[in-house]
Amino acid sequence: MDLREHIAIVQNFPKEGISFKDITPLMDNGEAFKYAVDQIVEFAKEVGADIIVGPEARGFIIGCPVAYALGIGFAPVRKPGKLPREVVSVEYALEYGTNVLAMHKDAISPGQKVLIIDDLLATGGTVDATIQLVEKLGGTVAGCAFIIELTELNGREKIGNYPIKTLLQY
Ligand code: AMP
Repeated sequence: MDLREHIAIVQNFPKEGISFKDITPLMDNGEAFKYAVDQIVEFAKEVGADIIVGPEARGFIIGCPVAYALGIGFAPVRKPGKLPREVVSVEYALEYGTNVLAMHKDAISPGQKVLIIDDLLATGGTVDATIQLVEKLGGTVAGCAFIIELTELNGREKIGNYPIKTLLQY
């Protein structure tokens, strides 16, 4: 299965200079979507994950079917003001300004082995903030998995020694 055939590349979206990798054709294709999810399910088994954590919004799309396939839980990472109960937050730097991500305080039990899943690894800012949230809650990061990795941006360096799985590299 060549997943690359199911990624649409859109130049200068959402702004000038960005080469956007659109995973919606992959999601549209049942066979490709199942193949991609199954690859990450295998990785989740390898690293012994017992809960999945995914940042909004595309981390939900990939992370939830992985959690369902394994019969384990899924905990969302969201922008401020979206989660209704007590949260922990992390602020991180963007190219211009900062961003904040949050998780519910009771989303992870101490010692749980967490697999972080998102659609794409770019600079690694999002996954780095997510790792910090998981660790604030007492979870152990078992690994990080993405459909796509933009290798030139060196997002891997932010993840350090945690196991990483990416299905496609650009
Ligand atoms: P980063 O924090 O820089 O690693 O960016 C990762 C997040 O931004 C992911 O949740 C992606 O959905 C999104 N993202 C960043 N760059 C792109 C891109 N070129 N194409 C599609 N999504 C992107």
